[in-house]
Amino acid sequence: MVEETKLLYEGKAKKMYETSDPNLLIEYFKDDATAFNGKKHAVIDEKGAMNKAITVKIFGWMNECGIPNHFVEENSGREIVVKKLKMIPVEVVVRNVVAGSLAKRLGLKMGEPLPEPILEFFYKSDELDDPMINENHIKVFKWADEATLDKMKEIAFRVNECLKTRFDKAGITLVDFKIEFGFDNDGNLLVGDEFTPDGSRLWDKETGEILDKDRFRKDLGDLIEGYEKIMMKISRI
Ligand code: ADP
Ligand code: UDP
Repeated sequence: MVEETKLLYEGKAKKMYETSDPNLLIEYFKDDATAFNGKKHAVIDEKGAMNKAITVKIFGWMNECGIPNHFVEENSGREIVVKKLKMIPVEVVVRNVVAGSLAKRLGLKMGEPLPEPILEFFYKSDELDDPMINENHIKVFKWADEATLDKMKEIAFRVNECLKTRFDKAGITLVDFKIEFGFDNDGNLLVGDEFTPDGSRLWDKETGEILDKDRFRKDLGDLIEGYEKIMMKISRI
């Protein structure tokens, strides 16, 4: 078991700890649920444990697809060991079906499948409410250079193809998701952070039931029940 040495960062949903190895961090999944940039908040028993389990499974799928990512191994409780990254302050969103801010921004009907995936970028800033940006902003403000940006786009589409197929087999529609990237100490660009229903939209393929954090955002029902259904379905794949 890897031991944590010092709390490096506490965010809304996770804590990141340093370890005795300068290349490794421990990622701890909290029970906190937040929405609307922290304006709505609750502590939900078992959420951290569910998010850890789901993240482990999904990084496993990424490994099967050869997608470079920060996951190293499971640790005790609700922790995983990850490679320490220098994070790029950009959220990369991929969408397969109209929902959330895309529906709102363009006045589109939620649930409409897209003819091909749409990629969007948001600047990671709580103070500014994560504003939408484009590739030009990323290059001009030097959040990532052109070659890195190209790799991020290519990897994000690969993540989508990899996960969409597997979720589909599990009876789940991958509506959209957010990933983050960073560089490890050897200069490799890796997918970091997490893949959980906090940062993705996952709908039951048969019934259309919303299983992700929109249950909390929109008061649609018990959050953990949805996360448990996701875990049950994906654990078979
Ligand atoms: P937030 O900052 O949005 O409240 P979290 O509670 O999810 O977010 O905190 C996790 C933080 O750790 C995020 O800022 C994320 O970018 C960062 N992070 C994720 N993976 C790594 C990693 N492997 N190395 C360093 N930082 C990471
Ligand atoms: N997302 C996220 N963090 C954010 C913003 C969005 O993880 O700060 C995820 C969100 O859960 C969804 C996808 O990115 O799966 C697209 O979110 P959208 O732009 O529709 O924003 P929302 O209306 O959900 O805030």
